[in-house]
Amino acid sequence: MDITNKTPKNNPTRRQVIKTLGTVGALSSLSACSKISTILNKNYERPHSRTPFFAPRITRDKIVRVIVGLRPYRPSGFVVKREEYDKKNIVHNYGHGGGGISLSWGSSALAVHQAAGLPINQAAVIGSGIMGLTTARLLQDAGWDVTIYTRDITRHSVSNVGAGQWAPTSVFEEGVASKAFEEQYKYASRISHHAYQNLSGANYGIRFLENYYLSNNQNEEPYYLRELPELFSSIANLKPHEHPFPVPFVKRTVTMMIEPATFLRRVRDDFLLSGGHFKIRNFTHLDDILSLKEHTIFNCTGLGSKALFEDEELTPVKGQLVFIPPDPAIDYLTVGGGTDVTYMFPRKGEILLGGSGQKDDWSRNPEAEVTERIIEDNKNIFDNLRI
Ligand SMILES: Cc1cc2nc3c(=O)[nH]c(=O)nc-3n(C[C@H](O)[C@H](O)[C@H](O)COP(=O)(O)OP(=O)(O)OC[C@H]3O[C@@H](n4cnc5c(N)ncnc54)[C@H](O)[C@@H]3O)c2cc1C
Repeated sequence: MDITNKTPKNNPTRRQVIKTLGTVGALSSLSACSKISTILNKNYERPHSRTPFFAPRITRDKIVRVIVGLRPYRPSGFVVKREEYDKKNIVHNYGHGGGGISLSWGSSALAVHQAAGLPINQAAVIGSGIMGLTTARLLQDAGWDVTIYTRDITRHSVSNVGAGQWAPTSVFEEGVASKAFEEQYKYASRISHHAYQNLSGANYGIRFLENYYLSNNQNEEPYYLRELPELFSSIANLKPHEHPFPVPFVKRTVTMMIEPATFLRRVRDDFLLSGGHFKIRNFTHLDDILSLKEHTIFNCTGLGSKALFEDEELTPVKGQLVFIPPDPAIDYLTVGGGTDVTYMFPRKGEILLGGSGQKDDWSRNPEAEVTERIIEDNKNIFDNLRI
């Protein structure tokens, strides 16, 4: 409502004068009518947050860190299956592309289920990323004595690079993955979502936030929003006056944001507290793995599975992230709205600006032109926020 342009047609009553004076008094600190309408425009309805939208202040001189991670991607989807080698069983749990954080508990539950019927004693888990840790924890809960063998400690894994939005995205290619895989994916998504919700509010670095999908075209919805809408709340396609973003198409959901550094540290600590052990070890050949003392072995090596198990389909999708210092006022996520992969996720300790997705690129070096593009795309959104 624009109160600034209203002129009473008739002489005002005493009551109307007092009411008007009261309003003017309350707004006395505002010098211009335009300011009043600006304030009113901030009242976009928000389903989760109780504060107005603020824009992250993005400038190049605020960049504190740029990192790269290689997503372990398979067009036909991730692998959860058991293979027998002489007297040993290897259960695979790898290849989760851009959605491994989201899928972790669910995919690992499927992996542990593969060991049903085997004698419960000692298990080896290879890999200390999110799949290795969640597999190990679920095995411990089922009574196994677990050792994690890993080349890199958790904080050097791809999982610690992951952005952390709960959205099982870029996990497989539709039309390439089988219908059976799609069912497995949906099952894992539901279990995982439930497990994360159980941990929300328990200091695992999980919280709910509004997420705004920005687009210049009316794109097809991603598979997970189409097929698993029940895992996202407050879903709505917003009209231009209902949001501050400078793009024609905006979809809103409320979803979980997982801070990998906090989450992984907590799960690692839970693993150690439950009697688990870590051993640093780099396996270069399947025979090395088969020489382990454990008879039940879980392969959670992510991209490492390509060489170890000759998985031709497994390929890296390089992702680059740029960080600026945190801003507690920013309480929503955005995805899209740029010229390439673009997102902004606020964390407690930093603001993350993404991203990129370069298939078959094994380089772990950040690229200056990608950083520049990420900054420019995010600046174009937030410098033009209608607030
Ligand atoms: C930029 C970026 C953004 C992302 N954003 C999201 C997101 O928002 N949401 C989401 O759900 N997912 C996201 N992901 C995807 C997610 O991070 C991955 O799918 C997930 O981390 C894969 O976990 P993992 O445990 O399988 O692999 P990794 O974390 O790579 O762990 C593999 C482990 O195996 C060990 N290993 C490998 N080879 C060997 C060997 N030969 N011998 C011994 N040990 C070995 C490694 O040392 C490591 O410990 C993102 C990824 C990237 C890169």
